Amino acid sequence: MKLFFATVAASLLGFTAMSSVHAETDPHSYAQPDKVRVTALDLDLSVSFEKHVLSGSATLSLDWIDKSAHELVLDTSALKIDKVEAEDQAGKWNAAKFALDKADPLLGSALRIALPAQGGKVRIAYSTSPDAAGLQWLDPSQTAGKQHPFVYSQSESIAGRSWIPLQDTPSVRFSYTAHITTPKDLRAVMSANNDAKHARDGDFRFAMPQKIPSYLLALAIGDIAVREIGPRSAVYAEPETVVAAAKEFDDIEKMIVTTEKLYGPYRWERYDILVLPPSFPFGGMENPRLTFATPTIIAGDKSLVSVIAHELAHSWSGNLVTNAAWKHVWLNEGFTTYVQGRIVEAVYGKQQADEEFLVAANELRKEFATAKPAEQLLVPDLTGKDADDSLSDVPYTKGSWFLQYLEGKFGRATFDAFLRGYFDHFAFQSITTDQFVDYLKTNLLDKYPGKVSMDEVNAWLHQSGIPADAPLPASSAFAAQDKLREQFVAGKIDAKGLGAKNWRTQEWQYFLDQLPAKLNLAQMQALDEAYHLTGTHNAEIAFRWYRLAIGSDYEAAYPAMREHMLRIGRRILVVPLYGELAKTAQGKALAEKIYAEAKPGYHPMTRAAVEKALQEPGRLR
Ligand SMILES: [Zn+2]
Repeated sequence: MKLFFATVAASLLGFTAMSSVHAETDPHSYAQPDKVRVTALDLDLSVSFEKHVLSGSATLSLDWIDKSAHELVLDTSALKIDKVEAEDQAGKWNAAKFALDKADPLLGSALRIALPAQGGKVRIAYSTSPDAAGLQWLDPSQTAGKQHPFVYSQSESIAGRSWIPLQDTPSVRFSYTAHITTPKDLRAVMSANNDAKHARDGDFRFAMPQKIPSYLLALAIGDIAVREIGPRSAVYAEPETVVAAAKEFDDIEKMIVTTEKLYGPYRWERYDILVLPPSFPFGGMENPRLTFATPTIIAGDKSLVSVIAHELAHSWSGNLVTNAAWKHVWLNEGFTTYVQGRIVEAVYGKQQADEEFLVAANELRKEFATAKPAEQLLVPDLTGKDADDSLSDVPYTKGSWFLQYLEGKFGRATFDAFLRGYFDHFAFQSITTDQFVDYLKTNLLDKYPGKVSMDEVNAWLHQSGIPADAPLPASSAFAAQDKLREQFVAGKIDAKGLGAKNWRTQEWQYFLDQLPAKLNLAQMQALDEAYHLTGTHNAEIAFRWYRLAIGSDYEAAYPAMREHMLRIGRRILVVPLYGELAKTAQGKALAEKIYAEAKPGYHPMTRAAVEKALQEPGRLR
């Protein structure tokens, strides 16, 4: 599908495209929101753990924009559509004609519903496929408790359509209600108003009154316990995990208050966290009112809770002000990574915030040394590509780096006020990069002239690499480490001489990232003996250690590495290990053996990424 740049044309004509207008076609959706828009969804689903199927109906409320349009086009992926009904002007429901287009491997099938009378509502009776890309079904054996099955959704980027027929584009926002029927001993939770005291009676009702884009629709069902951790926050998790999770995340109210001080009130009432089984493919997912999180961030010392700061930050950047299409995902992730850094700085100190950024920035620079120029763009062309390809670390790290650059140029007080104004101005809207640039020009560049030019802004947005004047924080701990690492690699000090007994997680991350890809066997053994890295419970350190073990042929770590790869499904902690193994014939054989065992426990997104990594050795995610 071809893009047309209505915003550019509009600004040439001297006016700014309004954000409520669908200014740019989303190449990852068949929907035609310039003709008719979904404004509300009412979901009625029951779950079958036997069949791995959700079935029921979705009722959509419609706002007709084009008075001559007579068709509603929805996105679906592997849905079985049983019946479609439409409500006429008099409120009477009638059968509606519909057709499902041939499926596209990336986008799924367009569902075309004929609505000659432009009725206000349409109801689709349907069921999901057992292979739905947006759902993961876990057998009891794949949960911590081993007693009950579990199912959860992951809708971003475009997998919402695999469990609900929708206008599955982030440019369309709607409110929703839901009725979910479950087996009696389980609990259902959604990205909506969860009730911690709800009985496990198999009958759950939800409402999300604020308008959200489709990728924030979320559901999980399982043996889920609850612990309150703040005046407006609770942790939901399996009973085996909930106590540790509640302890790890008990700074949540401090984080919320910090962010409110910077960027205005939290607008979603509750902020709860659902900790999923370890197969969850991401660190976290910012489902509104209920962040979904991986248990791999529970390190026992709060050293990895910046993931929670990140998901909380999305309550402003992403959920409140949303990218209108996936090529603009840096508006979600770059802003969120920047805000995450500010939360970590306020709650855990500047050292940790700086070090986390340095770890990410160094990783990006390493990647850019070999990445193609087109892969280094903040606003990539995703036409004809998988929408999930947008989720590299470019929008996260380069995006937040750009905002740090602006903060440095204009000063923190000015930039904070600008950002707060930006969140207010575009609240509950979906916008493009051009809309951000227009706002930036008017409210920052032109207001404080002579500090940053449009050419400099465009270099960040539309050129490969990182501009030469990009700011980097200094870390005295990392500087000291650089010296120690060099001496260790050169054999001038031994592993004990590193004095790493009390290193923080970020120091280990930096140390392991900066080492050469291959150490000699004696060095690996000495490090392992001194610091017991093989089998560490800190998943971020474990991942880096196993990556180094593969590069160094340190096979003593392989049994623990195998355990890590079988237990965890978070993509960034396992996919690069497959990619690293696949570089040699022997390693590839081992990778394939581990994958055959791990595959049934992996989420479909992790499976897809691992299969790519086995095809393209060295692939990072
Ligand atoms: Zn994010």
